Parts: sequence; C-alpha cells; structure tokens
Amino acid sequence: MVLANPIIETATEAEVARLSERAWCKAVNWAAVNSPFYRWFYRRLGVKIETVIDAESLRANVPLVSKQDILQFQEEFGGSRRRSWAMDTRQVHLTSGTSGAGREVHFRTQADLAAMGIGAAYALVWAGLAPAETFMLNFPYSQTMGGPSFQAFCDAAGVIPVNGFAVAGAERLQQLKRFQCAGMSASPSYLQRLTVLARENGFVPSQDAPCLRTIVLSAEPYGLAWAQDMEDFWGAKLAEAWGATQTLGWAMATCERGAIVRSSSGSATHGVFHSFDHRYKIEVLDEDGQEVPPGDTGEIVVTTFRSQGLPAIRFRMGDRIRRLPANDCGCGRPFACYQAGTVSRLDDMIKIKGQNVWPSAVDAIVLRGPVVGYMARIYTDGHGRESVEIALELDETLIPDPHAFCLSLKDQVTAVIGISVEVRHGGLGSLPEQYGKTRRWSDERSVQT
Ligand SMILES: [Zn+2]
Repeated sequence: MVLANPIIETATEAEVARLSERAWCKAVNWAAVNSPFYRWFYRRLGVKIETVIDAESLRANVPLVSKQDILQFQEEFGGSRRRSWAMDTRQVHLTSGTSGAGREVHFRTQADLAAMGIGAAYALVWAGLAPAETFMLNFPYSQTMGGPSFQAFCDAAGVIPVNGFAVAGAERLQQLKRFQCAGMSASPSYLQRLTVLARENGFVPSQDAPCLRTIVLSAEPYGLAWAQDMEDFWGAKLAEAWGATQTLGWAMATCERGAIVRSSSGSATHGVFHSFDHRYKIEVLDEDGQEVPPGDTGEIVVTTFRSQGLPAIRFRMGDRIRRLPANDCGCGRPFACYQAGTVSRLDDMIKIKGQNVWPSAVDAIVLRGPVVGYMARIYTDGHGRESVEIALELDETLIPDPHAFCLSLKDQVTAVIGISVEVRHGGLGSLPEQYGKTRRWSDERSVQT
C-alpha cells in the first residue's frame, strides 16, 4: 500500500474528525470575513457567524449555498469586474456550464494555485503512479479549471503529463506507445471512444502500450460490465476520482483497490471513494438537509479548507452519491467512504411518461462494445405521445449485424427504464465528439413534464 501522506493516512478516524471539525469552523469564519461573496451572502441572510464555534453550531447557523446564489452575486456585482473578485486573483476559471443555468466565475489566488494539484495528486499516488512516470491527459485545456488543475496535479504527484487532448484520437494512441504512458485520465465516454478507435486501428494494448497500468476515470458514472471490458481490453486497472471547479480539483478518489472490485467468480462490484477529509468537509444530505445514514444516497455538499479566491462553504454540488459505512473499503485509511462509479447529477433525472429516468442507467447499458457514443432525444410524436429516440454512433466493422444489435439494445434499455425507446444508428463520425459532461439527452417535448 503506497501512502500519499503517511501522517494523515495512518492517523485514527477520531484524529481526522477532530482536525476536520476545527478546519471546517475556521474555513467558514475565514470566508465570512475575507470573501466578497460570503460577506454579501451572510449579511443578506442575517447569519451570525460569531455563533459558529463547533460542528453543531455550524450546522445550525450556516446556510447551504447553491450555484444560483453565486450567479446572482455575480450578476449584481459583475462577475467579470474586479470589484467582485477576491484580492490577489491570479487566474479565473469558468464552470463547464452544462446545466444550462449559467457559468460561474471562480477566482484563484496564488495560494489556490499552490493548493490546486495537491488533493488530486492523492488519486495518482493511490492509483500506483510513481514520480517520473508518464500520464496522458485527455480532458481539454480551456478557460475551465480542468487544464491547469490536471497540469498541477501531475506536478504535485511528480508524474510527467502527456497532453493527449491536444491531438486527435489516432495520434493519442501513438503517443501512449511513444511515451510509454503508465496511466491516463479519461471520462468513461471518451475511454469508450478511444477503445473503439484502438480496435479499429489494430492497436493492441498488451503489445503497443504494455506500460499502461491505470486509467483514472472522472466526470461520469459507468456500468460494471463496461468497466470489466475496459480493464480486460487495456490490461490496466481502473481508478476513479471526483471533484469539480468549486472544489478546486478532485476531492475524493479510489485507493489502490480501484474503481471496481472483482471476485474470483468473475462478478464485480463498484469500488470505494475516499474523501480527503483533512482538505474538505463532505456532507451527504437528504432533501431536508439532514445527513443520510450509511447505505443511503444524498446530495454532496462541500466545504473547502484550502480555497481562498472563491471558497465552497456548504456548497450544494447538485451531485448525488451513496454513503458507505466507515472503513467499508478495508484498506484502513481514516477517511469517509462512498460508492464509486455511481455519482450522477441530481438535475439529470428526467420524468418521461410519469417515470423517473436516470440517463446514467442508460449509459451503463448503451456505452459498450461497438458503440462509440450516443445521443437521446425526448419528443412528442404526431399523436401527442412522449417518445424517446436513441441515436447510436457505431463502429459497424465490429459487429456482423448492426440492425440486430440495435434491436437487442432497444429491448435492454426498455427493460431497465420501463419505457419503450426507438434506436437508430449511424457509422463512425455520425455524432459530434463529446467530452466530459456534455449532455447526451435533449428534451424536445412540446409540453414538458
Ligand atoms: Zn481504500
């Protein structure tokens, strides 16, 4: 077992809990005094910050913050004007803006830039990467935080970044080989795309990329059968990490046990996320704002201990996760445990014909084998009925009968979501390439429910 931080990772749970409580209270008090947004937000709500002295008083007195609150502040004060910025701003990052609700501007101070890669470096060290090994980055570099944070965490972990995102897929395969990458990062949908491309190009990982040992997933949920296929094809163990712009990088990751745990019988279960509890306070809350018990699912609410430009203080992430009992992983680290592979957006749930449909459930069935990607459309047909159409991008060279494949997939999706769907397909290049959290589902119903 390789430790990223021997002092924290061998501490007791009680020691980490004490440290976390102190840091949580300190972060709230710091933000109330120093952050333009929180000064505005707490004054408006009449929060008496001097009453916050421990976890109990914090929970009772400090309200949750949402994306809408930050957007409102930035609208009132001009999100791109300096007077609403933190002092000492050195970089600005936009959120990815996939929810259609606007993009927050996040300010990074010099201290933020120094802290940005540290949390995520745990994920790389736990995934088994050593200093001076090469790691391919597949998320694009833009005005979002992804680019700088990926470079920063490679720096913090001592691994050498290979900027795969700067070239097309076929060239990335060549770079995996040329630079003998020991690992790479990818969203599940991009990994699926790269896998199809590899098969099509006769790229055999055991021969062409024998150094590849780990693939660190993030940004999307995925199915267990797909994950097993990926490990078998690439000859690499899957790891996973979770984080966002608001959390200044990854805030939880799987340890050396990986993103899926395989039994000797061939079955698999989702692995365990550990939150970095000395750097973040993670709460998992139900609709009434109460902490859910282990085994239950709720919304992730985050407080950052190391952000200054725009800290997250009890920030509602809009992501749902399943909490697990303490030490569920069994590795002995004193960090809280959550289920990997299944984090999904709360606002992703779509009601179709009165049924709650989670697109991630469809992802788990569809994104496999010859399917490079898919897009789904909910629409009202000529008879006023709600209908769902799934358009697949298929590598038709990998299957003998694409029509039979689509029919089989239609039955599988219908069985899982309880709603009949239509499936059509096109060849390679028939859909736009998707990265990260790009929405696959569009709602074109004349009357939305
Ligand atoms: Zn563990």
